[in-house]
Amino acid sequence: MIQPTKHVPLVTPGDGRGVVRGDPTAESRLDPLTGNWTIFSPQRTGRPDEFVDSDVRAESSLECPFCPGNEEATPDPVWCGRISTEDSSFEISQVGQEISNPDWSVRVVPNKFPAVDEIKPAPQKRVDANLFQRSGIGGGHEVIIESRQHVESLTDLDLAELNLVFRAYRDRLQYWRSTSGVSYLSVFKNVGGRAGASLSHSHSQLIATNRLPAQIKDSLDLMSRHRASTGCCLMCDLVRGELKSKQRIVWADNALVAFCPFASHIPMLVRVTTQEHQDCFENLDEGQLESVSRLVGRVVSWLEKLRPGTAYNYCLQTRPPAMKDTPESFHWWIDIFPRMTQVAGFEWSSQCMINPILPEDSASKLAACARAEDPRYL
Ligand SMILES: [Zn+2]
Ligand SMILES: [Zn+2]
Repeated sequence: MIQPTKHVPLVTPGDGRGVVRGDPTAESRLDPLTGNWTIFSPQRTGRPDEFVDSDVRAESSLECPFCPGNEEATPDPVWCGRISTEDSSFEISQVGQEISNPDWSVRVVPNKFPAVDEIKPAPQKRVDANLFQRSGIGGGHEVIIESRQHVESLTDLDLAELNLVFRAYRDRLQYWRSTSGVSYLSVFKNVGGRAGASLSHSHSQLIATNRLPAQIKDSLDLMSRHRASTGCCLMCDLVRGELKSKQRIVWADNALVAFCPFASHIPMLVRVTTQEHQDCFENLDEGQLESVSRLVGRVVSWLEKLRPGTAYNYCLQTRPPAMKDTPESFHWWIDIFPRMTQVAGFEWSSQCMINPILPEDSASKLAACARAEDPRYL
């Protein structure tokens, strides 16, 4: 049962696998050569990992902490959604409300091995203000457990589960946006060891932090400058350009679009967004959420058709809470990509990615999958 609490417990006590309350938790350090902050999270080395020494999806060898009956293996949920067996409607309960655990269809729990600690009001610790800057990194790290079934991919979920997962994203993003001190919000999914998954049971994650990553800040500056010089949203302009060119469109209706971006840095990356301007994903209405969840599920199914059993990630970008001055410059999106290449020496040294597949070719193959599935989009 969820107990009514005002504060979400973000850090869990030890479980005999190397994490105890009071251990040093996450801190971040600034690299003065790049301006990038790195999060150090030694407690995450104690995580169970089904994918050790494996690049591909694996059969579970561990007792799954996300399966029904093992709820005590995870911290108490902060969000539970139940799908009615009668009419497929949703019943959603959040912290502060009572919910019967055994009935969940999708549940959100704090990560037992969080990458970030609670936001603390303590001042930043600095060893040397110029060279060796470090500070606590605060926020929250949650796991969205997407099904009662021990399945691995988004395409294994039924449509009601899929829709409910995206409702969970919306509700938890709204919660963290309203939490004081949060600057950046990230929702992502890792499927397969090569994509960074440590457990196979279908799940995604949300990390909220009090620090805006340098690369995200650079992107926000580009969006703000485009808005200032043209009066238009950069993503709206890009979507209009892609729709006009047609060369990289995978699928579109009057509201949504899926395309392989012109300068895609990863092979077969598909970007999904709304054609109408919307800065925050969590402001989408319920009909839009359902449409987005279906489209993301279909994109994954097309990627899996072309690369059966592929490891993949997706990353949802919504307007960072830190971007307050020009909120109209930002436009949410989701990037979905199979893990086909490794980051190698040149990419590490230059931060310049080498993509072996032109996005026009990726889009053409994926659009063929979309047409084969639904001839209305021929
Ligand atoms: Zn499981
Ligand atoms: Zn826009």
